[in-house]
Amino acid sequence: MSKQEINRCEVLEKQLSNYKLWADMVPKGSFFQNLRKIFSRTEWDIIRKAVYKKDGHICVICGTENAKLEAHEEWNYIYRSSIQKLESICSLCYWCHRNKHLGHSSILSRKGKLDLDKLISHWAIVNKKPKFDFREYTNKVFDL
Ligand SMILES: [Zn+2]
Repeated sequence: MSKQEINRCEVLEKQLSNYKLWADMVPKGSFFQNLRKIFSRTEWDIIRKAVYKKDGHICVICGTENAKLEAHEEWNYIYRSSIQKLESICSLCYWCHRNKHLGHSSILSRKGKLDLDKLISHWAIVNKKPKFDFREYTNKVFDL
């Protein structure tokens, strides 16, 4: 990454962290890389169930109870030294998880496999913002 790209990523992450629910910024070289691919299905089931138990079986962002949870990997990207460090794995509901992976979600939406309006509604409720703020927010996210 160039110094200019590194600076833009760092500034953007700071801006996005003002939201309660915001999309993870993933460097291109790390697209589609995840722990789930490393472990067997059985091993991953043990890990994700331990994560759900650790989090009290609720979504750690919106607090939804009794939802089908998904395990989300929280990575810290240290752009200046090209280091990717796993910070934690947390429990998210479906719509918070889709918001975290906004780039992938937009691809699914274009294929008709994801209801973008539901994703935006969830984002608006969790962030206590009007739905029309989502456009400005996504302009920031995809302005890389
Ligand atoms: Zn949630």
